[in-house]
Amino acid sequence: MLVLDHLPTPSQRNIAMHITPSAERAVRDGHPWLFQNSLRKQSRDGKAGDLAVIFDKRDRFLAIGLYDPQSPIRVRVLHQGSSAKIDDAFFAEKIQQSYDKRAPIRASDTTGYRLIYGEGDGLSGLIIDCYANVLVIKIYTSAWFAHLKAIIEGLNVIFPDATLILRLSRLVQDDDTHGLVDGTVIQGDLSSPTVQFHEHGLTFQADIIEGHKTGFFFDQRDNRQRVRQLANGKTVLDVFSYNGGFSVNAAAGGATQVTSLDISSPALLDAVNNMDLNRHLPTVTDCQHETIVADAFEGLAELAQAGTTYDLVIVDPPTFASRQEQVAGAMIAYEKLVRLALDVLASSGTLVMASCSSRVPAEGFFALVHNTAIRAGRPLNEFARTQHALDHPITFPEGAYLKCLFATV
Ligand code: SAH
Repeated sequence: MLVLDHLPTPSQRNIAMHITPSAERAVRDGHPWLFQNSLRKQSRDGKAGDLAVIFDKRDRFLAIGLYDPQSPIRVRVLHQGSSAKIDDAFFAEKIQQSYDKRAPIRASDTTGYRLIYGEGDGLSGLIIDCYANVLVIKIYTSAWFAHLKAIIEGLNVIFPDATLILRLSRLVQDDDTHGLVDGTVIQGDLSSPTVQFHEHGLTFQADIIEGHKTGFFFDQRDNRQRVRQLANGKTVLDVFSYNGGFSVNAAAGGATQVTSLDISSPALLDAVNNMDLNRHLPTVTDCQHETIVADAFEGLAELAQAGTTYDLVIVDPPTFASRQEQVAGAMIAYEKLVRLALDVLASSGTLVMASCSSRVPAEGFFALVHNTAIRAGRPLNEFARTQHALDHPITFPEGAYLKCLFATV
């Protein structure tokens, strides 16, 4: 493949590394990140993608991982405990295991899902999303460039005819990208950036080049299905709707009316298209769909002022805290959103409130939602709290970011 001709190869010589006692404990406990300030010494300088072997203070093997001299996460652990050879077969095996783990998803008429969830699947800094026969590989460290061919070979065993797209995180784009740009087609053809796929039997399309994440929020799949089961006969407001994942599920589930609200008009156009892709379902045909382009805080306040209410309100905001200093502000924003959502929630209505800020702890978030509702004089009867779907396995605290509360007033 011509575009991959200039990829670096990992050095034949590993880097030997010694780390601080607390980092040793963390690695033993299975934490996949070694920060720059945890390193005590290393045998030589290395380049991104070289393998670093971590030894404990008695020089026994601890772990092996990918080295990246530019990243504050200096080593991303690939294997820990016993020594292992990191080669093409190692990566192929990881991909196969992840694929097998997702068999229940594929069995539910779903062709859009996360095949590799970085650390959760033992491949820190690597995301691979499946959109039917198009696979989007997103790398969060330049260390993966040196192992990209091995990853592609592993994918080709399972998906021999797939089109492969490479996405680069913002940090990686600032580094040496070996002539590759974000969105490069690295195998096969892509006739349009919009690709179609199935989720629980519903049809969606997503823009895998310009869209958020890699185009679709697969993490909410199970929560969307829950909404589908709750929506029959209801009026539904989908706040922060993006391309309509929850909206289409609500319509398919028999909602009489669905309103999708988002600040982005292109996202709402996509939501309308996604609704149209499911018009063959009588429930979707019978559902009245409307969109509101607005800031959620302002849009909700206006709806409340007009006295509009809904039987089911879904609030799925973007992350409000990507840094620790932002957590307090995020809590204030969540509180405002709960208040505003309750203002448009009909009596005996259902609230679905999500947070995807990994720095906001689940317990604190759920307590805030309940306390806000109590203060608003509309206490909630919770009937479910959920996390991500099966294709986002959680193996360390930072990997658990999504929490979602289902409750009635
Ligand atoms: N619920 C969606 C995912 C939501 S992603 C799903 O299931 O797929 C977050 C969305 O919030 C994005 O579409 C973004 O355009 C929108 N957004 C960000 N800030 C906003 C704001 N202040 N008001 C309304 N929408 C906003």
